[in-house]
Amino acid sequence: MPTHPPERAPHVRGERLPVLDPATGQVCEEVADQHPDELDAVIDRAHAAWRDWRADSAARTSALLTAADAVERAGDDLASLLTREQGKPLPESYAEVARTSARLRYFAELDPGSQQITDGRPVRSVVRWRPLGPVAAIVPWNFPLQLASAKFAPALAAGNTMVLKPSPFTPLATRLLGSVISSVLPEDVLTIVTGREPLGARLASHPGIRHVTFTGSTLTGRAVAEGAAAGLARVTLELGGNDAAILLEDVDVEGIADRLFWAAFRNCGQVCMAVKRVYAPARLHSQVVEALAHRAKTVVVGPGLDPGSELGPVNNAPQLARVERYTAQALADGGRVVAGGRRLDRPGYFFAPTVLADVPSHSPVVTEEQFGPVLPVLPYRNLDEAVEAANDTGFGLGGSVWGTDVDQAEAVADRLECGTVWINHHAELSLAQPFAGIKESGLGVAGGPWGLYGNLRPFVVHRPEDA
Ligand code: NAD
Repeated sequence: MPTHPPERAPHVRGERLPVLDPATGQVCEEVADQHPDELDAVIDRAHAAWRDWRADSAARTSALLTAADAVERAGDDLASLLTREQGKPLPESYAEVARTSARLRYFAELDPGSQQITDGRPVRSVVRWRPLGPVAAIVPWNFPLQLASAKFAPALAAGNTMVLKPSPFTPLATRLLGSVISSVLPEDVLTIVTGREPLGARLASHPGIRHVTFTGSTLTGRAVAEGAAAGLARVTLELGGNDAAILLEDVDVEGIADRLFWAAFRNCGQVCMAVKRVYAPARLHSQVVEALAHRAKTVVVGPGLDPGSELGPVNNAPQLARVERYTAQALADGGRVVAGGRRLDRPGYFFAPTVLADVPSHSPVVTEEQFGPVLPVLPYRNLDEAVEAANDTGFGLGGSVWGTDVDQAEAVADRLECGTVWINHHAELSLAQPFAGIKESGLGVAGGPWGLYGNLRPFVVHRPEDA
């Protein structure tokens, strides 16, 4: 389910969009609420900038490495602004900044090369890689900087220009990031636009855009794909998930409990590939529930700028309402709160980390994406039943298997229908690996060389061998 800022009257040019601090619920700053008609000029400029930007790959590498340095230098400002608008603890905002500069460096130095094709005939085909043109990127509010960089680092390294729209809930740090990067890149290579809908819809369907790369909910992803279809722009979609963690009979519950807890609750559970449901052998179920509940009750929840906070608030009011709705429905369906289960009695959008037991498998907190600090733990009688339950979802982003016998865990991992399976941890990513959800979790591939090729088109020269 997508989250949107409250409906407002139609756009008026020059309007401002308030951005709230989720730790207080108060306005912390405003940004431009850009009118969708402004996109014509922005995309024209991105197209004009593309002519020079695509021409010289050595100059691009050098410019992107300089941009990585500039991001690092702006780290303090970026991280504190990110925490103010997103809510996450400050060290996690610093981690986003570090990931952003690392990603710029990684893609700056990745060369798509060229490939020679031989098939036994006396001809020589050479495949070279060409950029696509202006790329549109649309990102959500859970990892604003990290997800923005996952879009612009490969796209710009490939020789495209980009127009990027952050979520209206979290435009501030992205806007600052854009100005830091733009100060060292040629003008109009990267442009950040801010505003509420239909800005994103217009961007995704704009005829001047050659590739639309979207991260967000499955519902919005479908609308984005429909919009992009009009101009037959290439589409990459990174969408929602409902990752299952399967614990095996030989799992060391206390040994893995911290990692499992954080795999579900990091960033307040607002992670596409968070653990969103746990399947534990019936024999170990109550031990697993207690181990997770103990951590949920003792973790320090508070404003992200407070040095001791381990978990911040939920990012926005609609998302908090959704978390409350899923929790209430789980209880109405027969579930039991073992930890948390309620809003915290303080300003802002704080929800106590919640562990649920006895939730039936048809309850929405199990079948849909809660995207918040609420975790159902379900018992299973045999492994086939657990694998079937894990796969019984429209999503296919990630999953994990936890046990002492790693070979057995890997055999179970092979049976999961998703893009990535982790063993004894969850949601760890390398910049060099592909990231691709299946089913309703996505279309196309991000990450590593695959992410670079996703921003390029093959160009083939086919000639006789002796010519
Ligand atoms: P969302 O779909 O509501 O919004 C995502 C972005 O799309 C925002 O910038 C929003 O303003 C914009 N948007 C809204 N309507 C649009 C439209 N009609 N056309 C174009 N753009 C539009 O998602 P959200 O609530 O911001 O983010 C949470 C979702 O993102 C969750 O489902 C989560 O799993 C998913 N997500 C996926 C990944 C991944 O890599 N697979 C990563 C992070 C988040």
